[in-house]
Amino acid sequence: MSSSLQMAAEARLPSRFGEFRIFAFEQRTGQQLDEAVALVMGELRPDDCPLYRIHSQCLTGDVFHSLRCDCRAQLEQAMEQIAGEGKGLIVYEMKEGRGIGIVNKVRAYALQDGGADTVEANLQLGLDVDLRDYRLPAAIAQWFGLKQVRLMSNNPEKIAALEAVGIHVKRISAETDAGDQAGDYLRVKKEKLGHLIDGL
Ligand SMILES: [Zn+2]
Repeated sequence: MSSSLQMAAEARLPSRFGEFRIFAFEQRTGQQLDEAVALVMGELRPDDCPLYRIHSQCLTGDVFHSLRCDCRAQLEQAMEQIAGEGKGLIVYEMKEGRGIGIVNKVRAYALQDGGADTVEANLQLGLDVDLRDYRLPAAIAQWFGLKQVRLMSNNPEKIAALEAVGIHVKRISAETDAGDQAGDYLRVKKEKLGHLIDGL
């Protein structure tokens, strides 16, 4: 199905990591409307190979500092690294719980409290393990005219989505010091979802 990407608005976003600009995007695919924002630092030029992170919304981690996952640590690490270079972008997708939404995510956490891992919990709820396809962040990278990026990610599907639209990807590991609590979660991501995590 064809889809159209629109940049709806752009504004300043001063942060404790430095000055970003925030770009708001909408993508319509049939009846479905997806939203995402891009945080951008510095001037992106077509021949640059900037740091790039695709981050999926994690209310529990990003906002409440949850230790069930390492999302917040990865986001902060990305903002810090980009600020260190003075250039780069982060696409933040509204895909809570790998796309299942916050209510199902809490249901899955309840099953995990009873002993299921992150993949088993989704399957027990009759949900896909991962509903994300990363076409929106790939389209946003194209919108910025990028031909190559240094992707801060452990997820091979993100690399594939960017390469599918002709963007050359050099992967930068996004491993964080996530602590013991997130260790089991990360091990399942590595063993069942194919994430490229070395430090476990
Ligand atoms: Zn998370």
